[in-house]
Amino acid sequence: TSSKLRDVGTTIFTEMTALARKTGAVNLGQGFPDSDGPPKVLAAAQAAIASGLNQYPPLDGLPELKQAIASTRQARYGQEFDPDGQIMVTAGATEAIASAIIALCEPGDEVVLFEPYYDSYLANLAMAGAVRRPVQLRPDGERFGFDPDELRAAITPRTKLLLLNSPHNPTGKVFTRQELELIAALCIEHDLIAVTDEVYEYLIYDGLAHLPLATLPGMAERTLTISSAGKTFSATGWKVGWACGPANLVAAARKAKQFLTFAGGTPFHAAVAVGLTEELGWVSALCADLQSRRDRLRAGLEACGAKTYPCEGTYFLQIDARSLGFDDGIEFCHHLVAKAGVVAIPAQVFFDDVESGKRYVRFAFCKSDVVLDEAIARLERSF
Ligand code: PMP
Ligand code: GLN
Repeated sequence: TSSKLRDVGTTIFTEMTALARKTGAVNLGQGFPDSDGPPKVLAAAQAAIASGLNQYPPLDGLPELKQAIASTRQARYGQEFDPDGQIMVTAGATEAIASAIIALCEPGDEVVLFEPYYDSYLANLAMAGAVRRPVQLRPDGERFGFDPDELRAAITPRTKLLLLNSPHNPTGKVFTRQELELIAALCIEHDLIAVTDEVYEYLIYDGLAHLPLATLPGMAERTLTISSAGKTFSATGWKVGWACGPANLVAAARKAKQFLTFAGGTPFHAAVAVGLTEELGWVSALCADLQSRRDRLRAGLEACGAKTYPCEGTYFLQIDARSLGFDDGIEFCHHLVAKAGVVAIPAQVFFDDVESGKRYVRFAFCKSDVVLDEAIARLERSF
């Protein structure tokens, strides 16, 4: 392994899912749903294969998908993207994020991001030789928040880019307008590029709303907005994501993307276009469903004595392992597999400041009621 990737290990998701398979534990670790997306979207993928859409798509993706992405962003958020040059379809949001970081950062450039962070960001920063400057999210009353002064202090003359994930994995935080306004003001003041990871944009609860950073004044021209069909249509294995933004930022990211995968997943592009055009009603129902599953899992965890943290969006709910007698989430997760037969994710792996992250353990609630109830029953017997 090159020195660049020396610190990159096996992802925690692979590790914990393998452990669940080996031990027969209930897997509330890796975030993927256990039911399929809208039947019409599944049928559209099959129809696309039958109709011969089986060769490379254009580098930027199938035109009907780019058009559907443009129309959806326009209708939901009032964002204007030209499908010809301002939208690029990728192999999941993962490739869009990697392309952006590799294409936009010089070695030594600094990237400000919120901690805990999604793990692929770190590997991408390492590939680019960029330096991370985390700003910690902490529970603040009923929500997770950050200290504006810490954010200001994390920005230096070397900062190139701010990477924002909202709704946020693993805290479940949805950034508020006020928080986004502060972030936008700092991006403008310091002339930063923003890259936003909005893969959970549709999975927001309790009547809260998603506000893309790029919609704030002065941000459209400096923001690359990234999302994905994986969570929206319960199709995480399809790996269809996209990046939208000003032509210069998309062009830069395209340079990396064309030599990462070039392009792929043609029939899935066609199917996701159908999803965005015809099945957003299905997505609203999914969202309502997930909210009730969040509540079900939270109630079950609390009945076992776990302290849970607020969750406003995503697939994830965190607990404080100390409330169940463990100072270290990794120890807790190993105990959980061995004693209860349940897999969760120790969220400290998403922290630079491991000491602060030790208490957090993430549970995925994007599972059927039967699976959640089984996990809760197992926890109840063990705690
Ligand atoms: N960003 C976040 C915050 C995620 O949780 C995930 C995992 N699904 C991704 C990006 C990756 O998205 P995709 O599967 O579309 O590559
Ligand atoms: N996004 C998923 C999660 O946070 C995992 C995706 C992956 O396994 N790479 O659980």
